[in-house]
Amino acid sequence: MYSEKTAQTILHGKWNKLNNFEFIMNRAYALNRDKLKCRVCGGWLISSTPYAHRINPNLPLDKVNRVNNLVSLHKKCFMAVDNLSQDISQFDVKSQKKIIGYREKLVPSHTRNK
Ligand SMILES: [Zn+2]
Repeated sequence: MYSEKTAQTILHGKWNKLNNFEFIMNRAYALNRDKLKCRVCGGWLISSTPYAHRINPNLPLDKVNRVNNLVSLHKKCFMAVDNLSQDISQFDVKSQKKIIGYREKLVPSHTRNK
């Protein structure tokens, strides 16, 4: 699934340091744990390349790519989580709640004071 294209990308050094070997290995584990389903909308992740979202991207490098910090998402769902200002009204209510939940974790100051 993370075939030649991935290998080439690494070889050419296009990825930032977060997308290291550990990340590549662990996102495959995360996808397996998620049973090939998107953690936002619950849809299958078999027709397109799954995206691995880091729940807390602010962890140190030795923790940020742990399996328990990764969730498998559709590109569409990943973008919705990652882009805090994106309108998510196209998603169903359940998915919106998931997106908002992941978004809150992206902003440490929001979660700390609750
Ligand atoms: Zn999805």
